Amino acid sequence: MRLLLVEDDQMIGEAVLDILRAELYAVDWVKDGLQAEALCRTESYDLVLLDLGLPGKDGLEVLRSLRAAKLRTPVLIATARDSVDQRIKGLDAGGDDYVLKPYDLGELLARVRALLRRAAGRADSQYEHMGVVIDPVTREVSVDGQAVVLSSREWAVLEPLLARPGAILSRAQLEEKIFGWEDGVLSNAVEVYIHGLRKKLGAHLIQNVRGVGYMVPRA
Ligand code: CA
Repeated sequence: MRLLLVEDDQMIGEAVLDILRAELYAVDWVKDGLQAEALCRTESYDLVLLDLGLPGKDGLEVLRSLRAAKLRTPVLIATARDSVDQRIKGLDAGGDDYVLKPYDLGELLARVRALLRRAAGRADSQYEHMGVVIDPVTREVSVDGQAVVLSSREWAVLEPLLARPGAILSRAQLEEKIFGWEDGVLSNAVEVYIHGLRKKLGAHLIQNVRGVGYMVPRA
């Protein structure tokens, strides 16, 4: 899953970046409202964590213009603990949920998971497809009841594919899920992880759609 963190405070930004990356999300971080808006328009994110008080362009304005442009990326707004007014404005501007600052990092992660889950059309946290069960909270994976251990990057490839059976993800999209834009990527990295996943989970689970990308079939 690929996230955009929009936070102008250096120390808070670093702490949030660390905890999100520790959870294996690919995260891009910007500190300015205009940059955030530009990136949301050109890159594809699974979720945006948006601070409201930002240089360049206010977070609420960024959100309004993204929604006016029909961008449907889930947005988790960060609002001050004492400002009910900010929360109301943020939700009305198109925010999907809010998290209070200063952050409780555990709660922040739970809200991120909940929004990603909802965006994928699921209400429960665990999900099952073709005998494979994965739990995004504990990162446990099993096949026909047998526990399987995945590397963090195998997980990063599997999770978005299994979250939306029938949807094709290109190699570039999968690379983004693993690395974010600031890391170098080996050209065959995705193939290597897909190969590992097929060995562990069965050859039939992930299909290669020639010239387009990869998908988990609907059934
Ligand atoms: Ca701020």
